[in-house]
Amino acid sequence: MSICMPEVDAALVARRDEIAAQLRRIVPGEGVINDPTGLRPYESDGLTAYRQMPLVVVLPETVEQVAQVMAWCHAQEIKVVPRGSGTSLSGGALPVGDAILLGLGKFKRILHIDYEDRLAVVQPGVTNLAITKAVEHAGLYYAPDPSSQIACSIGGNVAENSGGVHCLKYGLTTNNVLGVQMVLADGQIVRLGGRSLDGPGLDLLGVVVGSEGLVGVVTEVTVRLLAKPQTARALLIGFDTVEEAGACVASVIGSGIIPAGMEMMDRPAIHAAEAFVGAGYPLDVEALLIVELDGVAAECDHLIGEVERIAAENGARQIRVSADAEERNRFWAGRKAAFPAVGRLAPDYYCMDGTIPRRQLPLVMRRMAELSQRHGLVVANVFHAGDGNLHPLILYDANRAGELERAEEFGNDILRLCVEVGGVLTGEHGVGVEKRDLMPAMFSEEDLRHQQRVKCVFDPDLRLNPGKVFPMLHRCAELGRMHVHGGQLSFPDIPRF
Ligand SMILES: Cc1cc2nc3c(=O)[nH]c(=O)nc-3n(C[C@H](O)[C@H](O)[C@H](O)COP(=O)(O)OP(=O)(O)OC[C@H]3O[C@@H](n4cnc5c(N)ncnc54)[C@H](O)[C@@H]3O)c2cc1C
Repeated sequence: MSICMPEVDAALVARRDEIAAQLRRIVPGEGVINDPTGLRPYESDGLTAYRQMPLVVVLPETVEQVAQVMAWCHAQEIKVVPRGSGTSLSGGALPVGDAILLGLGKFKRILHIDYEDRLAVVQPGVTNLAITKAVEHAGLYYAPDPSSQIACSIGGNVAENSGGVHCLKYGLTTNNVLGVQMVLADGQIVRLGGRSLDGPGLDLLGVVVGSEGLVGVVTEVTVRLLAKPQTARALLIGFDTVEEAGACVASVIGSGIIPAGMEMMDRPAIHAAEAFVGAGYPLDVEALLIVELDGVAAECDHLIGEVERIAAENGARQIRVSADAEERNRFWAGRKAAFPAVGRLAPDYYCMDGTIPRRQLPLVMRRMAELSQRHGLVVANVFHAGDGNLHPLILYDANRAGELERAEEFGNDILRLCVEVGGVLTGEHGVGVEKRDLMPAMFSEEDLRHQQRVKCVFDPDLRLNPGKVFPMLHRCAELGRMHVHGGQLSFPDIPRF
């Protein structure tokens, strides 16, 4: 493990059985797991290169149980890692050896659907796709669509501010969540946001969305529902160079068109996806764009014509427009299966996630090819081109000594490159443990201190999801002391811990 995790308190681990027994008084029966075989399935998340056994797994079924578990952990000074479905690709749900893993997997109920106000109130363990499935009979859907939507939970989506193919037009999780109920580190139950787009006071809901399990345990989510567009059609556009494809993306957005989705794949990804699902992708191109337009039929037809024209101006070699829903689904099937498809090319792959300004795409692709040579590892590229969100998949073999470390170094270089060209370290997968130590490449020490002060407001003892997101573990009390200048205590009215 090259990423350091907080030191495990051996004395606490020695009390595992006693702690489990105490927790069983709150969550009886099979809701508390402390035997090694039962703990094993929870030792990792989607960042499978890293694993650690949790102290105890707790699977509550009611909000009251969550509140009591949190209050008990608070009183006992025990740390807590919240977990949804465990699909995080940045190690956000990676257990900590002396922390309880609090799984929300049993919170699977859709509590209320308001068809008139177009919203749904759901428990955090409901999968992303299950929300759409529950309302599609009424012509509605939940817009953010991570590729993991069949498995990932809405609670995890809130914590990661997850995105997907259709977020270019319809916004990320943060634009589609209206309110949450959350249990704080000390067991208090709070509500933030509500049923409308804006609420009174500070936008604390905005702090919670994307907070990666660092500020509270989400126990209920209110989401917006949108009406399914009347028509949706997709284009497959092949290019001889990645530069032309990148320029086409910039021209489409520059023309004022906002496609429902605009995805790009490079040659290795195209070949892997085609071999995996037979989506009908051209194999003699260097880059492939899938562009989806939606709306009323006449608007859709018009926009398809516009995108065809722009693509031709940018040197497109092949353009195909989906004739029907089946063909459109086939175009997307390759893209949606691109990760497992690339997984067949090598024993392991490392999925990166960074964002760049769209115009930098050709430069970044060129530099990435150089980095691939330098690190001696192949990279396949699949990305949300419309919003500049890259997902380079670095192929490696963990059984070869040093290859994981080389893959990580390559990945770090890609993320530093994203920042260098004016982008950011993350797109949609969060910071977790994966990008934690790169945070100083993006933020100054002062920025990081202020961000952590926000966390301290919710979790002053730093017991929620420790070791994630922030590169250095400052205690909140130390943070308070850092702002003393010339003997003058800044913000003297803020309580010090
Ligand atoms: C094949 C694959 C494809 C993917 N594609 C995408 C994609 O297209 N777009 C995208 O954005 N992501 C994608 N992901 C990443 C992942 O699915 C998302 O980050 C997802 O939101 C995680 O949800 P989860 O329920 O699995 O959360 P987990 O992995 O269990 O947890 C993720 C984080 O959320 C916190 N958390 C979970 N539940 C709660 C809660 N109730 N309260 C507070 N904190 C909580 C955890 O502490 C952790 O920090 C993909 C992952 C895989 C494996």
